[in-house]
Amino acid sequence: MATDKIPVTLVDGDGIGPEILEATVRVLEALNAPYTWRRFKAGLTAFEESGDPLPQAMVEDIRTTRLALKAPLTTPIGKGFRSANVRLREEFHLFANVRPAITLIHGERFDNIDLVMIRENTEGLYVGVEHFIPIDDDPRAVAESSGIITRSGTKRFSKFAFDYAVKHKRKKVTIVHKANILKAVSGLFLETALDIGKDYASKLTIEERIVDNTAMQLVLNPSQFDVIMTTNMFGDILSDEIAGLIGGLGLAPGGNIGKDAAIFEAVHGSAPDIAGKGVANPTALMLAAAMMLEHTNHLDLASKLKLTLAAVLQEDKIRTADLGGKASTREYTEAIIKRLA
Ligand code: NAD
Repeated sequence: MATDKIPVTLVDGDGIGPEILEATVRVLEALNAPYTWRRFKAGLTAFEESGDPLPQAMVEDIRTTRLALKAPLTTPIGKGFRSANVRLREEFHLFANVRPAITLIHGERFDNIDLVMIRENTEGLYVGVEHFIPIDDDPRAVAESSGIITRSGTKRFSKFAFDYAVKHKRKKVTIVHKANILKAVSGLFLETALDIGKDYASKLTIEERIVDNTAMQLVLNPSQFDVIMTTNMFGDILSDEIAGLIGGLGLAPGGNIGKDAAIFEAVHGSAPDIAGKGVANPTALMLAAAMMLEHTNHLDLASKLKLTLAAVLQEDKIRTADLGGKASTREYTEAIIKRLA
């Protein structure tokens, strides 16, 4: 039977992953979103079950759908398997990570935040080129790590970031770097981004700023920023800071966009400290689903979802504990579905 539904790969994760993915699927169904999906496990749960945190069947499914909604995955700290998130980004050349931050709950310490972090996703220090050097009887006496930046990768990423800014009617792009100290890796990134930026000079204001200053300016005067583009690790760190400006990680979505696929997820991790308690905030993953709706040109549904989330949070004041509320994940999800009905 012919169907115009779009196939999506659902990636079930670890910790709070299954709870927030379930809530998001229920909301997408209430929205009559035009998707069909197959669901797979990844991360630590998949590793314990099958020995691989990135099961091949799931990778093959994403190769077909080129579209995924992914719950957070646990990565062991300091040892164990390599991050399944990083491997996914490499596998599908997801070179840009788009993280919009918009205030949904007004009247807090920071208000009317509306900025977008675009983070390079496949280069920099996160390439995982690192090793230990043994000295005497200490096998881990010295640790060495290489950050890798390529001109071609930075060109592709910069074009994406500037095009995104133009397409979304943004006015200013700030290139964030540490080229004063890291003259090679950060210097090449800055030089290349500024060079590509020349083609956009009539449409955008393009400025550059050192990362530590950016971190401070973000809390002193966040409204001076519009779009921030930066390298992998700086983007990772600054996006959590930016999430803090809008009420925390529970409200921060992200889209990994690349040549071969687009994978949407929450910025936050698997939150093992609250897993299984039914209190996780599913909003970030729901906002990631809204980004997926935009990506697949269902702008009306994306807008309806975002407005509904804002109404439940701001007008109904139904919020999970991370936002100072008392609602469980289920109660919050029911409130959204009720408004969508
Ligand atoms: P985390 O984001 O999981 O949690 C940080 C804090 O925020 C915790 O106190 C947690 O309870 C809270 N929190 C996060 N999301 C929340 C939500 N939706 N609702 C309510 N509270 C929430 O960061 P972490 O503890 O550093 O990492 C845990 C695991 O997640 C690690 O294994 C890490 O590697 C992984 N991780 C995965 C991703 C991803 O899959 N994209 C991203 C970041 C971290």
